[in-house]
Formats: sequence, structure tokens, C-alpha cells
Amino acid sequence: MRIELPDKVTYIIRTLQAHGYEAYAVGGCVRDSLLGRIPEDWDITTSADPYATKALFTRTIDTGIRHGTVTVMCGKQGFEVTTYRIDGEYEDGRHPKQVSFTKSLKEDLARRDFTINAMAYNEEDGLIDRFGGSADLKQRVIRCVGDPGSRFDEDALRILRAFRFAAQLDFSIEEKTYAAAKDKAVNLGRISAELIQTELNKLLLSWHPELLVSACEAGLTAVFLPEFDRLMEAGPFGNGSGVPAVEALKALVCEPDAAAIRTIWRGDVPKERLILSLTVLLHAAGEKAAFGAMKRLKYDNETIRSVCHLIRYYGYDWPLTPVGIRMAMHEIGTESMRLLLLLRAVQNLPGKGEEAEAVLESVRLYEGILRRRECVSLKDLAVTGEDLIQIGFKPGRSLGEILGRLLMQVIEDPEKNRREILLAETERMADEYQSKGSRM
Ligand code: ATP
Ligand code: MG
Repeated sequence: MRIELPDKVTYIIRTLQAHGYEAYAVGGCVRDSLLGRIPEDWDITTSADPYATKALFTRTIDTGIRHGTVTVMCGKQGFEVTTYRIDGEYEDGRHPKQVSFTKSLKEDLARRDFTINAMAYNEEDGLIDRFGGSADLKQRVIRCVGDPGSRFDEDALRILRAFRFAAQLDFSIEEKTYAAAKDKAVNLGRISAELIQTELNKLLLSWHPELLVSACEAGLTAVFLPEFDRLMEAGPFGNGSGVPAVEALKALVCEPDAAAIRTIWRGDVPKERLILSLTVLLHAAGEKAAFGAMKRLKYDNETIRSVCHLIRYYGYDWPLTPVGIRMAMHEIGTESMRLLLLLRAVQNLPGKGEEAEAVLESVRLYEGILRRRECVSLKDLAVTGEDLIQIGFKPGRSLGEILGRLLMQVIEDPEKNRREILLAETERMADEYQSKGSRM
């Protein structure tokens, strides 16, 4: 079994070896290489203690010296190099209270969560697989290293990680591991929101986000996302507009292939995908519950704001006319409108019915409006408050009102978005305001 190590990884391993230490690529990168997937990052495990590692490389970062981790920088790329270690008891069900370093690779591999994550590799020794990781890769199962019950007692985050890896790799969870996960799910309550969020995001952004349903059945979401359980209990986990939400989650995974959608699709941007996923997931719970859930899981304010905004306008209807779409863009915001159209697209395409047609038509209209750069907000209006002040208006409420009315006219008829037309219109309105006796 040969793995093509990147040059920089080979360099780090050789440097350590040249000074009498053992060193291997380990964990996720070995697993992904064996699966023919491109590893996101390469971690290295070594018998050298962190200070020895630091001494061997010119640029290093003390990522987690206490836990034995030093990041070695090669150009702009960083590689985590961690000393072989045995984890002590886990403080908060997550962080080992103390770690002790060891000279034994096997001991280091034994502390790792799943067999598929407990393999090491270097060019001299080839694949080191003491716990049946490659057999489990072949069988496509997630299995704990050692006794699942005690491994989940040590660190409950592993329970969620099992589902996350199953979702990313399309693996099943081995029976005993699954039973223990179910049994110990409540312990997830001891895990910090940040760590839960990271794993949840990876699950949602994976190829099989529908595994959240399995996580629910095993009692996981009841602990960290009870809103989802309530939705599941509420019967058909539906959204009243086409396919159920879990199906929609799945649909989000694939780039919608309708050509009309591709132009507005930027769902391969993880942040955007996540916003769409959370919206799909939580919209039926309502804006308030969604807000609470995301706050609790410590999502950033921007994500929370976007998701809540999309949930607010989730069922919003617009007439299928240019004016209707411009109005919707004005109310919802151009960018949010794009996301909302994407959500509709994902839920109604591929499909042929009226709904699908409505989505396609909306997208066409939306794109036309953007292409023609038509005005949908005050900032695109050909006159500004400044302009009105210059022709003698006083800042104040009526000025805002006038701008708002000008905008409505322009949304009705984009041709009107010209300075001279709008100024003339303003003069006309000014007379009206004056005759009503409001201040000028
Ligand atoms: P990804 O591709 O998502 O980064 P990964 O396998 O690299 O997957 P990480 O969370 O980056 O996952 O962890 C790196 C390695 O550290 C894992 O492969 C595993 O060997 C070990 N590991 C990480 N978290 C735990 C944990 N909670 N318990 C035991 N071992 C863990
Ligand atoms: Mg990793």
C-alpha cells in the first residue's frame, strides 16, 4: 500500500528521522489517501517531544505545546506535528486533563477515536494499521478503537463525530459503536457549543446531511438541537412547499443542474451553503426558535442574522412580474433574494410543475433586473437626500418620505430613474407637501 506524500510532508518526516526520531503521517490524511480522497490537511505524529520538534525547524507555531502540538510552517502552509501521546482522563468530556507523552506509536494510535482515523504511514514502514482501520475502510464502517462505551465516556464529542464521519464518507456505524453512541448520547450535554457546532457544520455540509435524522433517532439532537426533534415529532417534516426539508438538505449538496440556476448558485462557498442548510433545517421551527438554537450553538452573528432573515421571508410570495420581483428585492435585499431563490430552486427543481416554473421565471426576472442594473434600493436611486437638500429641502421626515416615494415610482418604472425626471417629480411632490402644510 503506497501513499503519495506531499514533498513538504516527506521533508518534515525525513528531518525528524535524520535526528533519530520516528515520524509518520497520521489520522485523517492517511484515511483520505486510502480512500482516494484529497486530504484537507496533513498531520504528523512523532516520537520527538515538542521542544525537540521546534529546535529542528526554522518557523514553528506553538499551537498546543501542552498537548504536544507544534505547527511547522513550510512556506505559507502549516503542518501540525504532534508528539506521540496517551490521553489522560477527559476533563469536560473533551479535553484530556493531562496528557503524557509516550515513545510508542501504538499507544498514540490507540488514543484515537475510530479505527479509520488510527492509521499512520511513512515511506520506510508503509502503513501502520494496528486496529483494523483499512479493513473497516473496505467495509465502510465507523468503529471505535477499543471499547466504544469507555471511549465515549472519555470524550462524548466522539459520539457526534461518528455520525459526522458516517455522513462525510457514506459509511455506516458499526453495531456496538452505534449502541454505545445511543446509550451515551446524553453526555453530549457536557461538550462545548463551539465543538458541537464544528461537527454539526461538517455533517450538514457533507454529502449525506440526512444523517442528522439518524443522529436524531439515536438521541443526539435531543441534546444539542431539540428544535429538530420537535420538528421530527411534528409529523411530516414538511415545509408546505414541495419536498420535505431533509430532502431539501440533500438537494443542497448537489449543484442544481438547471442552467437557469447556475448563474445564481454560489453554494459551493461553505459559508453560504451553511446559511442555506440552517435555513432549510430550522425554518419550520420559526424565526424565534431558530435564533435561540443558533445563539445556543454559538453561531456568529452574521450567520444568525442571514438565516433569520431568510426564515422571515421563507414563504414570501411575489407576483411574477418585473415590478413584483423588484419590490421583493427591495424588501428582502438583493443578496438575500438570491439566496431565497436558491432555496426555492433547490426545493422545486428538478420538477416540472407550476412551482418549478415559477422559480425559473423568478430567476430569469431577477437576473434581468441585475443585468439592466435597475434600481431596487435608495442607494441606486438617481437622486440622493443631498440633492434634495441642495434644492432647498430641509433634512427630516418628509425628505425621507419623498425619497421613498421616488423609489417606489422607479421600482414601478425603471425608466424614471434619471436625475432630471426625479427632480421634476420632487418639485411636484414638494407643492403637494406644502399645500398639506408640512414643513419644507
Ligand atoms: P477532517 O478531515 O475533518 O479534518 P480528521 O480525521 O483530520 O478529519 P480531525 O478532527 O482533524 O479529524 O482530527 C485529526 C485526528 O485526530 C483524527 O483523525 C483522529 O485520529 C484524532 N482525533 C481528533 N479528535 C479526536 C477525538 N475527539 N478523540 C480521539 N481522537 C481524535
Ligand atoms: Mg483534520
